[in-house]
Amino acid sequence: MTIPNVTILWCRKQATCHYCGQPIEIGTAMVKVFFWNKGNEDKRYWNTQHCYHLDNPACWVKQGLDYLEKNPFVPHVRGRVRALSKEDSRKRYLLVRRFNEMYQRKNNIKAPYPDNLPIEARLIKQMVDIMMEVAGLGGVPKSWAEKIN
Ligand SMILES: [Zn+2]
Repeated sequence: MTIPNVTILWCRKQATCHYCGQPIEIGTAMVKVFFWNKGNEDKRYWNTQHCYHLDNPACWVKQGLDYLEKNPFVPHVRGRVRALSKEDSRKRYLLVRRFNEMYQRKNNIKAPYPDNLPIEARLIKQMVDIMMEVAGLGGVPKSWAEKIN
């Protein structure tokens, strides 16, 4: 998924409009769009930046619409976790905490290769078990899939 960050600013260095391909002159207003599409929820990287004419709405309005078309509106699903009973919420909280502990341990295995392998495998197995349980208690956090790799 890409999440853009849109800024409107004065052009200080001649740029090329990503939409119409014409130059954006110094001193004119432009729209700069940064996309971050690498990393995960904890850490993101800006790795693309596009400039558009601001004085020609065809340029920047069109890019905005393109973006929206590629990323259709998804309503937030509310209350899934909140719908859990108090007891289940508590269980979920403890499982999430335990999962993160396992994850920390997995990242801090001191044993050298290949002794680290069975230790890592055991931790991953435990993490997957926790995932299974959490799945039934409001769902598995998205970032977890990467953490068991
Ligand atoms: Zn343009």
